[in-house]
Amino acid sequence: MIKLEHITKNFKNLKAVDDVSLEIKKGEIVCLIGPSGSGKSTVLRCINGLEVPESGDVYIYDQKLDLNGEDKGRQLRNKMGFVFQHFNLFPNMTVLENLTLAPIQVMKKSKSEAEEIACQYLKRVGLLDKKDEYPNKLSGGQKQRVAIARSLCMNPEIMLFDEPTSALDPEMVIEVLEVMQELAQEGMTMVVVTHEMGFARTVADRVIFLEDGKIIEENNAEDFFSQPKTQRAQDFLKKVM
Ligand code: ADP
Ligand code: MG
Repeated sequence: MIKLEHITKNFKNLKAVDDVSLEIKKGEIVCLIGPSGSGKSTVLRCINGLEVPESGDVYIYDQKLDLNGEDKGRQLRNKMGFVFQHFNLFPNMTVLENLTLAPIQVMKKSKSEAEEIACQYLKRVGLLDKKDEYPNKLSGGQKQRVAIARSLCMNPEIMLFDEPTSALDPEMVIEVLEVMQELAQEGMTMVVVTHEMGFARTVADRVIFLEDGKIIEENNAEDFFSQPKTQRAQDFLKKVM
């Protein structure tokens, strides 16, 4: 479903992503882990075209993501939802307005249809009673669940998460991870950058460990955590677990 072929991305003379190739199958849950600055976010941003690699190609369903093309890869990008560490909700809009904006403007849905779908997803993340609140009235965990619901309203086929729980107080992490785990169980294809090793271990099908912009190790979650092959993965896991 997603294929990266020899992706390289530089920032000035820093190789943020250095010859990364990977494939993700439909329904697969892949966690990207590694130290800060290892290139995890940049890989994720290359997948949905927020960053344009210097070299290498990104394919979604065997279709090359062409950001220089006529629609700047929009059709392919619209298949992907992106959830950020800092929620990125629109502060001047209610929860419901946050959820209906793109479906109305991009998918050309009617307001009533967009609201109906939004309410379904708000119910799923347990926040239907907050639909008329503004984001600043919500806790961090609630904001992130709204952000996930907002992505789902666009009916994505792939969900990309960049450290969705890193900005949350510990007691709110679990409510967000539970929503993500449910999505995973329903068969959503997910790529998750996370420091939540418990989540990666229980939910991921596969773990990709990055350092210095390179894939150092890649394995199914159970084997990666119980018997990491490389010294660098072993050292990393010792520090974080
Ligand atoms: P991670 O998500 O693993 O912490 P990133 O992908 O954010 O790592 O960053 C990889 C490297 O690229 C880091 O050294 C970071 O400082 C650098 N980098 C990321 N984004 C930019 C940018 N927009 N401009 C300059 N350097 C960047
Ligand atoms: Mg990052």
